[in-house]
Amino acid sequence: MTGIPPVAGRAMAWIASLRSGLPEVAELDLRWLQRFETVLTGLLATYPIDPTVEPESRSRRLLRIRGELARTGHLGAAVAVRDGGCGRAMVIQTLMQFICGYYDVDLRDSIGLGHGRLIAAHASAQVRDRWLPQLLAGALPGIAITEAHGGSHPQATTTTATAHPDGTLAISGTKIWISRLAEAAVFCVFFTDPAGRLSAGAIDANAPGLHRHPIPPSGLTGWAWGELHLDGVLLRQCDLLGRPGEGMALLREHFAHYRPLVAATALGAAAAVHDTVAAHLNARRSAGIIAEVRDNALITVGRAYAQINAALLAALMAQRLSAAGDEAAELWGCAVKAHCVDIAYTTTGELTLLVGALGFAADSALAKARRDLNGLLYADGIHDSLYRTAGRMLTAAAPATAIQLPRPYQPHGPRLGRLATAGTAGSAPGDRTPNLR
Ligand SMILES: Cc1cc2nc3c(=O)[nH]c(=O)nc-3n(C[C@H](O)[C@H](O)[C@H](O)COP(=O)(O)OP(=O)(O)OC[C@H]3O[C@@H](n4cnc5c(N)ncnc54)[C@H](O)[C@@H]3O)c2cc1C
Repeated sequence: MTGIPPVAGRAMAWIASLRSGLPEVAELDLRWLQRFETVLTGLLATYPIDPTVEPESRSRRLLRIRGELARTGHLGAAVAVRDGGCGRAMVIQTLMQFICGYYDVDLRDSIGLGHGRLIAAHASAQVRDRWLPQLLAGALPGIAITEAHGGSHPQATTTTATAHPDGTLAISGTKIWISRLAEAAVFCVFFTDPAGRLSAGAIDANAPGLHRHPIPPSGLTGWAWGELHLDGVLLRQCDLLGRPGEGMALLREHFAHYRPLVAATALGAAAAVHDTVAAHLNARRSAGIIAEVRDNALITVGRAYAQINAALLAALMAQRLSAAGDEAAELWGCAVKAHCVDIAYTTTGELTLLVGALGFAADSALAKARRDLNGLLYADGIHDSLYRTAGRMLTAAAPATAIQLPRPYQPHGPRLGRLATAGTAGSAPGDRTPNLR
């Protein structure tokens, strides 16, 4: 692949410049993150990206990297000690996601519990004991929410559970656009329970009655993607996540935590594109191919730098709110995921144009980043829905008082004659506004 060779330290240069804005990141953490980038780049040199190989080899490579990072203690770095991890601040994982995204968006599942956090936070002791050690050793969790009627309406889930006399549930339905389709060891599945409430459970990926139909994706090709059919898959009461009917609350809480991680991964990819494009422009100037870098290119590079950094700080803020259980965490998770991935996608598009058609070659890292970021515009929440949710929360929280419109300037006092408007908000009954035409 043409593009970003794995040289340790590049992603850390971005993080180091934000150092004074990261009070929870001590000097030791910074050095630890530096080592993480070195370990990751070492693994990438051992297992290079090759988009031409068949999908199974691509995902085998990613699972190997996840396994190695588990072995070296990086996977569980920010996982709570009670869940078997090292308990570093979640901000550290957000920065690790940025580093992963810098080298390849497909590395987004290289560390952490991912959607397995639902198991850590909401499963019975029996289910936690079964899955957490496996996930921390490198097994991959998946999540199955979306259905054909639309992922932005999880409340309308048609995958349903029927109850057996012993309390076991049999789950049937079809989930679509599911990532990690073939690779996940366990799925967190959302379904409508016999009482008609949205509920969730942990289902072994090898459970009888689970069938897969892969659909080739146009980006994020590291993991298999497609339909997950459930045909009477059995779920014991102890496999439930949270209490019956808590599905929506689980989704809200989980994605407030997960979306800032997605945002940081996307911004890492944009930062890598930024560095590649800046280096390319400099190389062309040094080689005398261009006399000077034109203003339009300089402006694009400067603006993208500010946008990526500002968005990363917002993602870190969202993560802090989630870690603190702040009531604004959901709002921030929605708005920040949409904003950060939008910024990553648009800056990547603008920057890539500056290197010319080279950035259009299928095997260019720039083109890959753009394809992958395109996928993140949908995955983990489509953006108009996320902004809409944020907007709904903000308007509901705003005071329900009408805006007092200022009285128009009347140099000679109120005049009689034709009126432009009458009875607008804030105007007294019978008040007359002069026509200023
Ligand atoms: C790469 C990738 C990975 C993914 N991985 C997973 C996964 O692992 N698990 C999983 O469950 N899902 C996954 N998804 C699915 C993803 O979560 C959904 O794509 C997303 O939630 C949006 O749902 P949808 O695609 O069904 O679009 P819809 O929900 O159908 O939305 C499409 C558009 O219609 C709009 N819309 C909704 N209602 C209305 C209305 N009343 N009027 C007008 N417009 C409306 C939406 O706002 C949006 O703009 C993945 C998707 C991608 C692309």
